[in-house]
Amino acid sequence: MTTKIKATNIWKKFNNLEVLKGIDLEVNEGEVVAVIGPSGGGKSTLLRCLNKLETIDKGSITIDGEELCRETSGGTEYVKNNDVRRIACKMGMVFQQFNLFPHMTVLENLIEAPVNVQKRDKAEVIKEAEVLLAKVGLSDKRDVYPRKLSGGQQQRVAIARALAMKPAIMLFDEPTSSLDPELTGEVLRAMRELADEKMTMVVVTHEMGFAREVATKVVFMADGHVQEQGSPEEIFINPKNERLKSFLKVIL
Ligand code: ADP
Ligand code: MG
Repeated sequence: MTTKIKATNIWKKFNNLEVLKGIDLEVNEGEVVAVIGPSGGGKSTLLRCLNKLETIDKGSITIDGEELCRETSGGTEYVKNNDVRRIACKMGMVFQQFNLFPHMTVLENLIEAPVNVQKRDKAEVIKEAEVLLAKVGLSDKRDVYPRKLSGGQQQRVAIARALAMKPAIMLFDEPTSSLDPELTGEVLRAMRELADEKMTMVVVTHEMGFAREVATKVVFMADGHVQEQGSPEEIFINPKNERLKSFLKVIL
C-alpha cells in the first residue's frame, strides 16, 4: 500500500495560540479520510499545513513519497521553494467558499492554472476540462460566469477546477457548509464518485452520513489533538474517547 500523506508530530501556533499539538496523520492511496470535530479544533489549519498554505512550527510531512519538511531539533526544515511549490501542486483543494475567479467563465476557471502554471498544451487542457465538466454534470455551463450558477453548481466547478491540475490527492474543507441544504446532495454525489474512482481524499466535514458511508477512516480532532481515529464503525458505533462521545451526541 502506498502512503500518500504522512504527517508526523505536527505543531502549529498562531501568536500564542497553540492550534496543532503533535498531530499524526497517515493517508494511504485510495483512502477517503473524513476529519470531524468541533469548530476551532484545528481541522482547517491541518489541511492548510498539508498543502503549505500555512508553515508548521515543528514536525515532518511527506506527500506522495516526497518530503515537504523534516523535523529538526529546533522545529522543522522545508525543502527548497521550487520543490515546495511542486509538492503543494500534488494536492487539489476545495474550500467552503468556492473561490472561483468571478471574471472568468467556467471553462476559463478550469484551464487557468493548468495552462498558465503547469504550462500544459491549451487544446489538450480544454479537452480534459470538458470531460471534467461532463463528469460533474455541468457541460452546459461551460461558457457561463460563476455568478450565474447556484452554490452547488459553483462548488462542482471548484471540484472540477481542482481536478484539472491532475492532483494525486484532494483536500476538501467543509465543501458543503455554505450551501443550502437542498444543494449539498449534488456536491456530495460528485465527491462520492471521486471516492469510487479511488481518488485519495481528506475531507473535513460535518456531513456525518458522508463520513459514515464514504470514508475509509474517520479522524476526530479536538483541542489540537487527534483524539480518536478508526473505521466509521469504530468511530460512530463504538466511540471510546469521551470528547468524541459527547460530540456525537450533539450532532447526531
Ligand atoms: P476548525 O477548522 O477545526 O474550526 P481552525 O483550524 O480554523 O479550526 O482554527 C483553529 C484555531 O486557530 C481557532 O482558534 C482559530 O481562531 C485559530 N486560527 C486559525 N487560523 C488563524 C490565523 N490565520 N491567525 C490566527 N488564528 C488562527
Ligand atoms: Mg474549519
